[in-house]
Amino acid sequence: MVVQCCVCKKIRENDSWVEATFYFDPEEASHGYCPACSAQALAEIAEWLEKERQQQVCQAA
Ligand SMILES: [Zn+2]
Repeated sequence: MVVQCCVCKKIRENDSWVEATFYFDPEEASHGYCPACSAQALAEIAEWLEKERQQQVCQAA
């Protein structure tokens, strides 16, 4: 089973994330985030939550 990062399209090989060097069926791959993209995604979510929080404060005022 191939595990592919849904952002940068790298695949997990043992414990590292590398460019795919072979063909595989994307439908057969399991999708997730590599550590780099996971950190990026979490940062974006945190930023979004912070914006939401600030908007709520404005609406309440
Ligand atoms: Zn990635």
